[in-house]
Amino acid sequence: MSTEPTFAMQRWRLALHEAAHGIVGRLLADDGLGVGAAISTAGPGRCWCPMPDNPLLAALVFAAGPAGEALAASHAPPDEPPDARQSEAADGLLAEVLTAEKSGAELKAPDDTATVAAFAGRFSAERVQWNGLYLTMLNAARALVEDHSAEIVALARRLFREGLCVHRSATGVEENAQ
Ligand SMILES: [Zn+2]
Repeated sequence: MSTEPTFAMQRWRLALHEAAHGIVGRLLADDGLGVGAAISTAGPGRCWCPMPDNPLLAALVFAAGPAGEALAASHAPPDEPPDARQSEAADGLLAEVLTAEKSGAELKAPDDTATVAAFAGRFSAERVQWNGLYLTMLNAARALVEDHSAEIVALARRLFREGLCVHRSATGVEENAQ
């Protein structure tokens, strides 16, 4: 029996990953502009979300991505397949964005935990403190993701189906991302 993740499960994990960045980013630094996220059929994803000025809070937004993926263990992907037309449009847009950025950094899965580790290292020179801060941030991100899992899953479901979506904040026009 193959243990390869299916296309649906890979796409679902990516959708949860980007949705978690977005919802946690908005939670920690709501700028009233909402959250945009995109995933492509080929794999890479992108999230545009408010980022806190405080670097430790910003690290939580990075750590939220991998924490969001863990929700795949308790939330099944949507039954209906992605909308082919919308997904194709999202693929095209995301490819343009990534090319424009020219960094190529997100063409493979972004290593968010490495980013969080870099933050932790900057704030504690001692190795023991570093480990403690790093694990504290990962655990705090997991707790935030659990507390807001309903909103993250709702955004991820839409992202899974459409490939690209914008989620407004409570005062915005697209509050209900179902
Ligand atoms: Zn990420």
